[in-house]
Amino acid sequence: MQDDEQTAVKAVDGFWRRHFAQQFGQPYRSPRVAGAYTGTDGPSCGGEPSVPFNAFYCRPGDFLAWDEDLMAAGYSQIGDAWVYLIIAHEWGHAIQARLDNDLVSVAAELQADCLAGAALQGAADEGVIAIEPGDGEELAKTLAAVADDYPWTKESDHGSAEERTSSFNTGVQGGVSACI
Ligand SMILES: [Zn+2]
Repeated sequence: MQDDEQTAVKAVDGFWRRHFAQQFGQPYRSPRVAGAYTGTDGPSCGGEPSVPFNAFYCRPGDFLAWDEDLMAAGYSQIGDAWVYLIIAHEWGHAIQARLDNDLVSVAAELQADCLAGAALQGAADEGVIAIEPGDGEELAKTLAAVADDYPWTKESDHGSAEERTSSFNTGVQGGVSACI
C-alpha cells in the first residue's frame, strides 16, 4: 500500500508539473506531502488538529496528509484504486488553491474528484500508471459502500457516490478543461 501511495504521489505531481502551466498560464509549485499519520497523531492545520480516518489538503500549510487507517480500509475492501483516488482528490484541492477563485467550482468537492480523474487518466495516457477498465465502477462501488463511514466519504460534504463517480469520469473523459 505504501508503494501505491508513493506511486500515486509521483504520478499526480508529475501530471500537474507537466500540464499546470500550460493549462493555467502560471508556474506550478508542488504542495508538500506530509503523508501518512495514524489516528490523532497527524499534522495540525491552521491550529486545528487532524481528524482520525480522514485525508485532507491543508491550505494554510499547503500540504496533504492522510490517515493510514483510512487508506487501509479502502485498500483491503476494494483495492489500490482507492489510494490513487484519495491522493489525486486531495491534490485537486491543492490545484484549486492555486487558481483564481472564479475557476473554482462552488461544488469544490466534485471538482476535486474531476481533477483527480483528469490527473490519473493523464498519467495513464502518458504511461506513468495503468488505469484498468472498470476502475471507475470499482470506485463507484467503493464510495457507495463506505458512504458516510468516514469524514472523507460523508455524502453531505462530498456528494453521493453517483455524483462523485460522474465527476471523476468527466475528468477522465474530458481532461482538466472539462473540470473548469
Ligand atoms: Zn475533498
